[in-house]
Amino acid sequence: MKLIGLSGGISTINEELQGTTVSLDYTNGVLRAGGLPVIIPAGFTSEQVCALCDQLQGLILTGGDDVDPGLFGEDPQPGLGQVNPQRDQLELALVRGMMERTKPVLGICRGIQVLNVALGGSLYQDIPRQVRGAILHRQKGPRGYQSHRISILAGSKLASIAGDQECKVNSFHHQGIKDLAPGLEVTAVAPDGIIEAVELANYPFLVGVQWHPENLWQNDSAAFQLFQQFVDSIVVP
Ligand code: MN
Repeated sequence: MKLIGLSGGISTINEELQGTTVSLDYTNGVLRAGGLPVIIPAGFTSEQVCALCDQLQGLILTGGDDVDPGLFGEDPQPGLGQVNPQRDQLELALVRGMMERTKPVLGICRGIQVLNVALGGSLYQDIPRQVRGAILHRQKGPRGYQSHRISILAGSKLASIAGDQECKVNSFHHQGIKDLAPGLEVTAVAPDGIIEAVELANYPFLVGVQWHPENLWQNDSAAFQLFQQFVDSIVVP
């Protein structure tokens, strides 16, 4: 049994009606790859996060709102979007809990950013304001449209998964990795130099991607392989 936790977004319909949201594109991708997805809401104590990490075999950090810049030592700047401290705390605790147990972690979009911050890196709070010459990372087009190119580092785990050293991805982000965390390796970049994928050396599977493979896997085998290789990296005791 390969239980895969997916950190949920916090959705607010109104003050009295809040919930946890994960797109079916993620959970269906996990199911198709042979894993059993479990959606993780906010509200865990640190002891409860530990108990959860004992049970999970893998973790996916899903896309969502912005990471609080206070977590990497910055004050908020104009251009910062919605932040949710409860979700930040949950995901940072989950990353630590899974890494202490050497279990696989896949970070998607916001997830690559959470991984970088968890390991001591920093983020651009708003790429259009902070990176001169940046291309459009909030694409105009449907979720499954692959709008910008990336170059994948030969020899990386990502290259063994995605194959092509040049490919196109979808892009729905305005934050991105600024200072890379110690231990992380850049494995893909956009034409403007924005980091699009990272992985942790000497770790079984800790991969972050800045794009959204969950919106692509039904039609793109490289995107599906990301889910498949993540699930296959799990060693069932
Ligand atoms: Mn992008």
